[in-house]
Amino acid sequence: MEVKGMTRCQKCGKQWTFKEKLRKSFKFSFDRSMNCPHCQEKQYLTNGYRKKSALITFLMILTIFLPSFLGASWEIYVVCLVAAVSIGFFLQIHTFELSNTDEGDFWNE
Ligand SMILES: [Zn+2]
Repeated sequence: MEVKGMTRCQKCGKQWTFKEKLRKSFKFSFDRSMNCPHCQEKQYLTNGYRKKSALITFLMILTIFLPSFLGASWEIYVVCLVAAVSIGFFLQIHTFELSNTDEGDFWNE
């Protein structure tokens, strides 16, 4: 049973807390694998998540730069920047999907 927005280790089935995911998300930028905080088994991000993450990043960048293209005032620019970064960041952490195997780079599919 998979509940949306909940990240479970595919080996032991235990949930990763938001804090654990947050800490590991920084590590994931350098390393493809991460040990589960519960069973210490290696876990990888799924390609599905990587695609979603790339899309979220793209939308974040778009939201950040859109106001300057439209000639909006700096107040609107700051609001968009803060909203894009916080919502995008939260979404990326919240939608973590784990896999037991490294699925490789999705752009090589
Ligand atoms: Zn585990």
